Amino acid sequence: MIKPGRYAVDPLGRSVRVLEVKDGTVIVRLAGSYGATVRYALSAMREARVENRCPNCGETLQQRRCKQHCPSCGYFDDCSIGPA
Ligand SMILES: [Zn+2]
Repeated sequence: MIKPGRYAVDPLGRSVRVLEVKDGTVIVRLAGSYGATVRYALSAMREARVENRCPNCGETLQQRRCKQHCPSCGYFDDCSIGPA
């Protein structure tokens, strides 16, 4: 799902954060560029692959053995627990 707060890939292949979804359009913020927002047609967006992304800040998680660690916010995921 493309929802506010999630990450997506825009038509140019860039990673973006979804700010708002409304009336078939999405407003996104380009990752790594403060304040730059762009509007696209919702149908033009692709859902981002989130397996290696931090759910808090979207930074790429670093893999350490069976753990994933976010270098940005400190989020930690131990994959030995696994999804429910
Ligand atoms: Zn993070």
